[in-house]
Amino acid sequence: MGLIVQKFGGTSVGSAEKIRNVAKRVIQEKERGNEVVVVVSAMGKTTDELVKLAGEVTTNPSKREIDMLLTTGEQVTISLLTMALQHLGHDAVSFTGWQAGIQTEGVHGNARILDIDSARVLAEIEKGKVVVVAGFQGVSESGEITTLGRGGSDTTAVALAAALKADKCDIYTDVTGVFTTDPRCVKNARKLDCISYDEMLELANLGAGVLHPRAVEFAKNYQIPLEVRSSMEMESGTIIEEEANMEDNLVVRGIAFENQITRVAVLGLPQSLTSLPTIFMKLAENHINVDIIIQSNTNENTTDLSFSIKTQDLNSTLAVLEENKDQLHFDTVKHESELAKVSIVGSGMVSNPGVAAQMFEALSQEEISIKMVSTSEIKVSTVIDEKNMVKAVETLHDTFELAGRPVKS
Ligand code: ADP
Ligand code: ASP
Ligand code: MG
Repeated sequence: MGLIVQKFGGTSVGSAEKIRNVAKRVIQEKERGNEVVVVVSAMGKTTDELVKLAGEVTTNPSKREIDMLLTTGEQVTISLLTMALQHLGHDAVSFTGWQAGIQTEGVHGNARILDIDSARVLAEIEKGKVVVVAGFQGVSESGEITTLGRGGSDTTAVALAAALKADKCDIYTDVTGVFTTDPRCVKNARKLDCISYDEMLELANLGAGVLHPRAVEFAKNYQIPLEVRSSMEMESGTIIEEEANMEDNLVVRGIAFENQITRVAVLGLPQSLTSLPTIFMKLAENHINVDIIIQSNTNENTTDLSFSIKTQDLNSTLAVLEENKDQLHFDTVKHESELAKVSIVGSGMVSNPGVAAQMFEALSQEEISIKMVSTSEIKVSTVIDEKNMVKAVETLHDTFELAGRPVKS
């Protein structure tokens, strides 16, 4: 007998009927002889609706109260799913994040899980109950309710699986697995049988919304086997596992993309040792995440610096630069929005030079100009105009034959 953590996302629990369907999937697992802990998200688009509602009350809601509001979404689902399980004759109990012992940092809106005191969950499992836990939430050391960032129920599930030493964590969602790229965007995207933790972590960090990046981090750190699969269909999904267990080492396994990117250029900075640390320290202090950074020295003993940020952070970035102008001594700041980041990811890139060149060539054939580039061992990211994003993803999907090699006749 094993212990399985199952996680069901918003669309999978979007109505009473879907919740009854989830209850049946849970019971199937139980009837296979496993103990089951279930993590659920808020129903359908509830979280978005709650955010909107807060915006109708005030333009500047406090982060504490936003967390208080948003965590109610998951609380609705845990109670309904538990009732559905009980209705079908199974013993079950629901727990909020704090009842399940999920302790987090005190940062509202994007807290990290620090520890899980799983005693209460384990005690209920021992009584033979299905334990249903609210995703996306925890409690800080000072007793405040926190949330883990949008999409964070995945992280609750994997962290619980690690704490409970579960045999497996299944992430049930509205697609049948992890695809070569978002199947809602590229029609011939192909479902992957498996993907490594490292590749999945890159894809998730680079915008593939199918898994919360911290969930993949937990899975890798604690070696939890993960499977992403459909809550509606029975077919097996995508296994996320250690590289060494995988059969193939594809040059490009997937493509991720993200819109609403802005490039900021700070021109005419003095070429001093302190310019760069000061700028990035100030931005970090204001919780602004900087992504790609390019620096080039001019021949007037100054430096031009460009970096990319999420467009939602543009106003605060400009304000931070302006506030520190006296200290930084730059000439001007320019910015360009309506950009997107398109990235190719694959662990086989390490041993295959020329992948970046192939990517740039394919984009240039489509007359898509590249504004910024960043690479790591297993990814190449390009920043391009947002209007070219889908075309770029489709082109790269074909270039790297991600739909499968054409069959020779
Ligand atoms: P849930 O509510 O179950 O957590 P999400 O909406 O967070 O579901 O994640 C599933 C969605 O992720 C899919 O509907 C799909 O549009 C999107 N997605 C993005 N990239 C990928 C990918 N590479 N493979 C599969 N789905 C992807
Ligand atoms: N309900 C939260 C959200 O919509 C958490 C999650 O679904 O994972 O972001
Ligand atoms: Mg999700």
